Amino acid sequence: MIARQISQIEEQIGDRVKLVAITKQVSVERMRQAYQAGVRDFGENRLQEALAKQQQLQDLPDICWHFIGHIQKNKAKKVLENFEWIHSVDSFALAMRLERLAAELSRSPKILLQVKMLPDPDKYGWHIAELLADLARLNECQNLHILGLMTILPLGLSSEQTLDAFQGVREVARDIEKQNWSSLKMQELSMGMSDDYLLAVKAGATMIRLGRGIFGERPN
Ligand SMILES: *Cc1c(COP(=O)(O)O)cnc(C)c1O
Repeated sequence: MIARQISQIEEQIGDRVKLVAITKQVSVERMRQAYQAGVRDFGENRLQEALAKQQQLQDLPDICWHFIGHIQKNKAKKVLENFEWIHSVDSFALAMRLERLAAELSRSPKILLQVKMLPDPDKYGWHIAELLADLARLNECQNLHILGLMTILPLGLSSEQTLDAFQGVREVARDIEKQNWSSLKMQELSMGMSDDYLLAVKAGATMIRLGRGIFGERPN
């Protein structure tokens, strides 16, 4: 079942888009099934749950771990120590904290900046205008590999609104790229979840984050 979902999704998205399996509330047994079906990128949004699973999956050393949840101040260090990618860098203050800790810990995390293309009180992230204003200072973060943008769209959009919003994010990334910052790269776009990943891929996503589409509905 899990393997079949994965192969179907991979066929749809092609090999230029990275499938990140989002495994919040998914057991390590089911994560192993995804691994067996070829998935190597796993994403979690809760630190404690993720660390426990990393322990139990130590025999699979080629897993690449992605953090996708909001990071509280006191969790930043542990996230840096245990994840290769952080998709959810959602404020300037957090970026600065990660920059300082990354230097202290000699880490060089791969970072995506989380943006809000549409207003959404339930979501974290930069408004586009704020992000543009922060770019010069973000460009000075020597310890962070800032590689692109991540977005989560508000619930309840039509397909047309969804595609528009994803394309909007891609345009923002292109505009930033044209500014030729020395250390800001915009090659990655993490956008699209189980209900909208095909639209995200159409709009140029390079990473999609799928939970339910692989593992079925979560318990709550
Ligand atoms: C849970 C989650 C996903 C996956 O959502 P599904 O609808 O299960 O595909 C993707 N991104 C983030 C940030 C999430 O928290």
